[in-house]
Amino acid sequence: MVPPLGSKRDKMSAKMNLNRVDMPKQSPEVRRKNFLEVALGYDDKMAAAEAARCIQCKKPKCVEGCPVGVEIPQFIRALRDCDMPEAVKILKRKNALPGICGRVCPQEVQCESRCVLAKKGAPIAIGRLERYVADWELKLKEKPAAKKAISSKKRVAVVGSGPAGLTCAADLARLGHQVVIFEALHEGGGVLVYGIPEFRLPKGIVRSEVEFVTTLGASLELDSVVGRLVQVKELFNQGFDAVFLGIGAGAPRFLNVPGENLSGVYSANEYLTRVNLMKAFRFPEYDTPVKRGKVVAVVGGGNVAMDAARSAVRLGADEVHVVYRRSEEEMPARLEEVENAKEEGVIFDFLTNPTNFIGDRRGNVVAMEVVDMELGEPDSSGRRSPRVKKGSEHKVAVDTVVIAVGTVPNPLIPASTPEIKTTRWGTIVADDRCRTTMQGVWAGGDITTGGATVISAMGAGKTAAADMDRWLRDGGVWS
Ligand SMILES: Cc1cc2nc3c(=O)[nH]c(=O)nc-3n(C[C@H](O)[C@H](O)[C@H](O)COP(=O)(O)OP(=O)(O)OC[C@H]3O[C@@H](n4cnc5c(N)ncnc54)[C@H](O)[C@@H]3O)c2cc1C
Ligand code: SF4
Repeated sequence: MVPPLGSKRDKMSAKMNLNRVDMPKQSPEVRRKNFLEVALGYDDKMAAAEAARCIQCKKPKCVEGCPVGVEIPQFIRALRDCDMPEAVKILKRKNALPGICGRVCPQEVQCESRCVLAKKGAPIAIGRLERYVADWELKLKEKPAAKKAISSKKRVAVVGSGPAGLTCAADLARLGHQVVIFEALHEGGGVLVYGIPEFRLPKGIVRSEVEFVTTLGASLELDSVVGRLVQVKELFNQGFDAVFLGIGAGAPRFLNVPGENLSGVYSANEYLTRVNLMKAFRFPEYDTPVKRGKVVAVVGGGNVAMDAARSAVRLGADEVHVVYRRSEEEMPARLEEVENAKEEGVIFDFLTNPTNFIGDRRGNVVAMEVVDMELGEPDSSGRRSPRVKKGSEHKVAVDTVVIAVGTVPNPLIPASTPEIKTTRWGTIVADDRCRTTMQGVWAGGDITTGGATVISAMGAGKTAAADMDRWLRDGGVWS
């Protein structure tokens, strides 16, 4: 390990190191054939060398870029002082899911983009250090017991165990409230278990961090669909004092073009859920099948499209195409994941849009009709809007298609609870404290924003927990 910061000279030399330590990865040839994690993480020496680059700013800009306010310089300082228990403690004070965030958060546009070193060279690899600290703790045989808070005697129902629900539950449990998390699926974690593949986020990590939330005092009720088994209003009759809805935006969105109902055309949600949650990649050991296509087209340009395309590669496809209607510049996926996909042989068909899927006599997709696109002026999202190039229609042979063009909120709870207002996109209306239009009910994460990020969902869970705590203790007027 690198010694702690000492003399002024140490500080100067640390200041001058603008080169970040690379993180090893499985080679593309090897990882194309397995579902094991691609990024291998820092070893002790690498972590120490990267941590030594941090100049311990007095007014750290990196913290301002973190939606959950992790005390970044402090945990890095503890790491370089070789005080790993302290590094874990500091990190987990604000973030109950550091092993997850260290792997999937877009740090390059958050904390790392604000790091002072970014102005002159490579910012500190905050995410990789976060992952290193979290993994160090996960390897411990015995973890330090979580401190139990004094009970407030208030009961809170958290609906959904994705990052929003887990964060809200963790903060409320730490504040002494009795929390029950209701989860519709048979495993906790939301998109972290059913959407993001094993090769990017091992499920053992998710399980450990979900378990950490339960050690804080929250209990997890699986296979419990609120809005069907029990209504939101009934939760209050059952003795809950407040409810948080972190139910995500898990319903698929389609292109609404002919042929989308052909066999072999999947929504990304179904495809990834089969592969990840239902372990179809280990068929027949697990009994969920998924089509192992030879020529696969994944429609979309976000993280979900990258995950689907890279899963198709690992399932043995000869050719995997990402079909995206804009250009590479406009792709919303993380740069790192686009690079990984390219290294694994995924082919990118930019400025291309499917208009029709064509089936054989048995109803299996065999081709798609596409048009070429060109970019016009920027639209309301700031991205240049695509328009069809006249006379560019042509057919492409495919045997599997995955539609990854976004998701929409699940309508079950809003439909069964008219007091909860929604927008015209189906997201739940909530104010900046995450209060909904129904007294005693908060909401946050993808269900209020539409598909966003893990850390923004966690930020909402935190905001809601703080306001819920105030309301549970002091009451007051609901507005
Ligand atoms: C394939 C994929 C890859 C992604 N990659 C990244 C990435 O790399 N980085 C990143 O930051 N973000 C990524 N995202 C986005 C990120 O995962 C989401 O923004 C985040 O998970 C939203 O968290 P949430 O808690 O709001 O909802 P979710 O994670 O969707 O969790 C909601 C939970 O609520 C449960 N639920 C729903 N309705 C009910 C009900 N009625 N009763 C009980 N339970 C219910 C659901 O089963 C689910 O478990 C990705 C998304 C997908 C789909
Ligand atoms: S801004 Fe960068 S250098 Fe400064 S404390 Fe944060 S991580 Fe360290």
